[in-house]
Amino acid sequence: MLVQCGVCGAKNNVFEVLELKDIKDFTDRLLIISKCKVCRNDLAQLIEVRKIDNKPFTDTFFGTEAQKVIKRELRRLKNKRTFSQHKHFQKWVYGLNKEYKNKKGDIVRIKHYACDFATGNKRLEKTIVNI
Ligand SMILES: [Zn+2]
Repeated sequence: MLVQCGVCGAKNNVFEVLELKDIKDFTDRLLIISKCKVCRNDLAQLIEVRKIDNKPFTDTFFGTEAQKVIKRELRRLKNKRTFSQHKHFQKWVYGLNKEYKNKKGDIVRIKHYACDFATGNKRLEKTIVNI
């Protein structure tokens, strides 16, 4: 998936896709973040579905406007998930870390899962043991 820069027209790879909380009228909200490789403008794309009629909307922002949107939407993060880049949007996976703590509250183990964006299936990628 590529995001086209509205300033210079270059097509750019996506850096991050973040899952956002619902707002009053919209659900299934995603924020796509990128930066133009040519003119270095920040790019942000907001994908959301209007609750009343299930209609999807895509808005793309550039430069300072993109920075404002990113700053605003980062407060509405649903989960601290970072989606890694895949060729097709439907095949995107995101990394999900599950932390295990001991009785003192120290993190002793982290399990890193790769989750399929479309199906929600999880696959254990690695376990990090904190000694
Ligand atoms: Zn550009």
